[in-house]
Amino acid sequence: MPVAPGQTPSSGKSARRVGVFGGTFDPPHVGHLVTAINVHHALDLDVVVMMVANVPWQKDGTRDITLAEDRLAMVAAAVEFVPGLIPGRQELDLGGNSYTADTLAVLADEYPDADLFTIVGDDAAAKLHSWERSDEVVSRSGLVVVDRPGEPVVLDPAVDWIRVEVPHLDVSSTDLRARFADGRPLDYLLTDATLDVIERRGLYLYDGDSARDSQVTP
Ligand code: ATP
Ligand code: MG
Repeated sequence: MPVAPGQTPSSGKSARRVGVFGGTFDPPHVGHLVTAINVHHALDLDVVVMMVANVPWQKDGTRDITLAEDRLAMVAAAVEFVPGLIPGRQELDLGGNSYTADTLAVLADEYPDADLFTIVGDDAAAKLHSWERSDEVVSRSGLVVVDRPGEPVVLDPAVDWIRVEVPHLDVSSTDLRARFADGRPLDYLLTDATLDVIERRGLYLYDGDSARDSQVTP
């Protein structure tokens, strides 16, 4: 598509080093943000795409997963003012189960000639062998792994992992959902902008009631 004088080609598509940090992001939290920001810095990436899984097939059926468009809205709010981080809706547009191998093919088209980096926490990295066409993920991108608090994991020694040190934050979406359910504090665990989306869209209301509402003080 022709680009008018003075305009840049659509949003950063000229980026040369592109990270893709995929997740369910149900909801996105500080662990995700701190990881993305630090990998962006450590590897001198032009952009990190926070790629929202459409159907996180490995979690499907294990619990109710928030609608993909709602998860995307939460991620978009979280990164709106964070330089170098952008929300990714490519897996929603692809539809169906989300496979990183397919996502990387889409990104390779969108960012011609860019080096792609797939960013994962070590719990996800340890399951690489179970990913659909993991060989394509390895051939199409550098595999970046960050440690996450918890049991040490074993990584496939055949993969040339790029290790990035990030602050270890023992935060998970599972814990945040439990906090929404029982009314424990969420402060500093996710951004105010994300909380705003959650409130406006009525997400994480359990038992048809808001644990938040019952906390309102006089
Ligand atoms: P859930 O508890 O629902 O599985 P989660 O917190 O693990 O949620 P995901 O959306 O499953 O978040 O994870 C997306 C990616 O972010 C994965 O690669 C995961 O390893 C990584 N990740 C999640 N939380 C952290 C954290 N606190 N520190 C570093 N990486 C994290
Ligand atoms: Mg997880």
